Amino acid sequence: MTPELPDLDALGTRVSAARAATEGRGETFYPGASGIHLAAFPPRERWDDWVELDSRAWPARVERHSMLVPTTCFNCESACGLLAYVDRETLQVRKFEGNPEHPGSRGRNCAKGPSTINQVTDPDRILYPLKRAAARGEGLWERVSWDEALDAIAARLRKALEEKRHNEIMIHIGRPGEDGYTERVLASWGVDGHNSHTNVCSSGGRTGFQFWTGIDRPSPDYAHAKVIYLVSAHLETGHYFNPHAQRITEARANGAKVIVLDTRLSNTATHADHWLSPQPGSEAAINLAIAQHIISTDRVNWDFVRRWWNWEEYLDACRPELERSFASFQAVLRTLYASWTFDVAAQESGIDSSTIAEVADVVAGAGTRFACHSWRSAAAGNLGGWQVSRTVFFLAALLGAVATEGGTFPNAYNKFVPRPIHTPAHPGVWQELSWPLEFPLAQNEMSFLLPHFLLDGRGRLDTYFSRVYNPVWTNPDGLSWMEVLTDEEKVGCYVALTPTWNESAYFADWILPTGHSSERHDTHSYEQYDGQWVGFRQPVLRAARERLGETVTDTRQVNPGEVWEENELWIELSWRIDPDGALGIRRHHESRARPGEKLTVDEYYGWMFENSVPGLPEAAAAQGLTPLAYMRRYGVYEITRDQGALFDRPVPADELTDTAVTATGRVFTAAPAPTSPNIVPTASPPPDPSGRRPVGVAVDGAVLTGFPTPSGRLEFYSSTLASWGWPEHALPGYIRSHVHPDELAPDQLVLLSTFRLPTQIHTRSANSKWLDEISHTNPVWIHPRDATRLGVSRTGDLVRVETEIGYFVAKAWITEGIRPGVVACSHHMGRWKLDGHDAVSAGSMMATVRLHHDGTGWSMRASDHVRPYESTDPDTRRIWWSDTGVHQNLTFPVHPDPISGMHCWHQAVRVRPAEPGDSHGDVAVDTARSRAVYRAWMARTRPAGSVSPDGSRRPSWLMRPLKPRPELFALPDEHARPEPR
Ligand code: SF4
Repeated sequence: MTPELPDLDALGTRVSAARAATEGRGETFYPGASGIHLAAFPPRERWDDWVELDSRAWPARVERHSMLVPTTCFNCESACGLLAYVDRETLQVRKFEGNPEHPGSRGRNCAKGPSTINQVTDPDRILYPLKRAAARGEGLWERVSWDEALDAIAARLRKALEEKRHNEIMIHIGRPGEDGYTERVLASWGVDGHNSHTNVCSSGGRTGFQFWTGIDRPSPDYAHAKVIYLVSAHLETGHYFNPHAQRITEARANGAKVIVLDTRLSNTATHADHWLSPQPGSEAAINLAIAQHIISTDRVNWDFVRRWWNWEEYLDACRPELERSFASFQAVLRTLYASWTFDVAAQESGIDSSTIAEVADVVAGAGTRFACHSWRSAAAGNLGGWQVSRTVFFLAALLGAVATEGGTFPNAYNKFVPRPIHTPAHPGVWQELSWPLEFPLAQNEMSFLLPHFLLDGRGRLDTYFSRVYNPVWTNPDGLSWMEVLTDEEKVGCYVALTPTWNESAYFADWILPTGHSSERHDTHSYEQYDGQWVGFRQPVLRAARERLGETVTDTRQVNPGEVWEENELWIELSWRIDPDGALGIRRHHESRARPGEKLTVDEYYGWMFENSVPGLPEAAAAQGLTPLAYMRRYGVYEITRDQGALFDRPVPADELTDTAVTATGRVFTAAPAPTSPNIVPTASPPPDPSGRRPVGVAVDGAVLTGFPTPSGRLEFYSSTLASWGWPEHALPGYIRSHVHPDELAPDQLVLLSTFRLPTQIHTRSANSKWLDEISHTNPVWIHPRDATRLGVSRTGDLVRVETEIGYFVAKAWITEGIRPGVVACSHHMGRWKLDGHDAVSAGSMMATVRLHHDGTGWSMRASDHVRPYESTDPDTRRIWWSDTGVHQNLTFPVHPDPISGMHCWHQAVRVRPAEPGDSHGDVAVDTARSRAVYRAWMARTRPAGSVSPDGSRRPSWLMRPLKPRPELFALPDEHARPEPR
């Protein structure tokens, strides 16, 4: 029977009429994503009282009235807009949907956004501050008041600061989810204790971009691209997942070609026009062959290269015998990469040379509409992975597709970080546990080496905080973390700020419950298209009650239990550290309007929105609102669109005072830098010997803004890499991975461990019932040929995966979606809780495990699995799965890249059928072997003491959160060279 199709013309006419009617009432019409424009969201004029029929009351027509309050999702780094539907009768959140006012996410969310309601209503969540009541890890806790917890922690911190033990204080930040608040708190304490998760996440990707542009992330204009080139699962789970995915989808609908390099058949790869499944670690070789094709077919944007590459610096440093002319450079460039033929790339990657040639021609034909990204994936998996990003951007730089429509922007052009009310000075100490001398070029803190540094005796921590972070579970070598977190000599006090139980919190001394995305304040801005916006996360019940005329002075008044938010918590803790102001801390947390009183979140954000977000005060006034009230009502403000090529803009004449120009065109000025409300982080090139600041570059007779690199141009040649001990990697190039076939024994395979699932959150979704129902296991992907060779006969068979330090046992998934010789396992699953911790109802959707420890040998086995259980949520009786996957990261040793500092996640492994007695989820590790691997990788480094060209620890221009004062960049005396080169 032929299905009856709707009459689209008639439907369209009706919808047009509906739209006209909506707009005729003076209401906003938010069209849906389909071509047939039904309204997709409630008009914002009705957000105070939105009426829906109660689906559970069907067939009775029962109306439910809601206030729609915006906030921002915190379940990945995209910061999509959410609308909380707050029931006007119960004043509780009924559900979360998308916020159509948000210019990045445009009302759309992935599964994790609406699942915020699971996190908020999780019957297992932590509602009150807890204090350890037995030895660390024994699982006994007592409920305490916030006063008791904060007084005790503040007293420790104050003592450490008074005794000048600033470097014994550290806050370890997982997902920041905000722009700069925690850094500001640490700066106010005078502590260089910012520790991020970035070196287990994205620093490999960032490093390659930073050496080119002085800015550590790209912002591809996917929607307008002709060719999209992704070295990641970007459409599916990559950076800015949903906002980017929807723009890639639009581009595809408009005919763009999508090229994906991913050894695994990711969901993204299934949508690609060209999917390449290379040998892991060979991606830069493919990029170089494509670059060579662009050069050899003369499709280079030569005028862009002439104006914007630092080719003169390259010729001066590397080819001084040649005439210093662009023609010389063109001739050199034509030979430099000539050896990177398609055959060579094919040899390295295992991809047919004809396929690479086909893709290369697509890229070469993109012109300036070439949008590219490389994030996590290969850049995070391999020794030298940062060269993957450097060679990806090489393609954009050859094509001149930099900050063009459909091209690739530096992220700072599409991000806005408003200046806050107080800006404390940079710290007067240097934290060597995070920024050790062995890694002078590290993109971020060497966070994952912390246990080894503590075990080496390089220092100790008096007070260690983690927030939105779970170091035992997230990092490689988690059992070494467990060893130091249970040793009070090494970590005197561990404070876990977390909304949910996690594998690290079990070893804490204090657990402080902080809120989910609808229970806290933050601002953020991310590069998702060619424009800038500022988003506002807020406690939605606070905003709802304020709409009803109530006054809320403390977010705990509206949050569940005694759940707090970090802003108010940090203000209160800082105040208690320095109650009389003698330490100089309190003033950074004090009201300006009411001197001597504590800053409130209303004043903090009210000042920011009034003074630091251009256009917002006017937009708010047009609606009769204050800027803060506007943000509480809409949750976001778009500042600008179509930034364009900012680097190509002339420097204003009033900034050009007493200028000096170098031989390569870098322009310095004595004029003071204008104060910008936007404090988005970028690199900061150094001043000239006379102290003038870099202001631009001389290009064709004009002084243009340029890039925040030492040369002011795109650095094809990195003088920094050359002068800091790595001259062989100063140009975009190829570094053979630690899992290159030549490094593998005949019976070894490569394990890809870097991919994540689009439906899980790193550490906060273990109890998100909808997400767990969708994704709760992580089998090992094995190609049928390997399965046959290894004796794995069926999907579901147990296999042992042996790493350098131990093994894990997982189920096999036999699939052609993975390259032969490579296996893959998602890092998202394998959540566990310790047997005996049920008293605190810790993580009912996690496996229960027994952990055995004998000297340096550790083993873990599940003693119980997930099962239905009674709780306040009837759905917990309907759990139908028991599998929770395996925690593979425990079996990985640390692999620090000697340049970027990135942990190189890929593993050389042996895979074989499980042994009799093995059980799914088993883990065994010898931490003595972890130590040996750590030492072997440390031997690859070139420490600042031996390579620094100027007696400093680190190039001062490179990005660094909480940059200590300039004098602290000097090498310590025992490492300083008598005569700086
Ligand atoms: S992509 Fe999904 S998880 Fe990430 S912010 Fe958006 S809705 Fe939340």
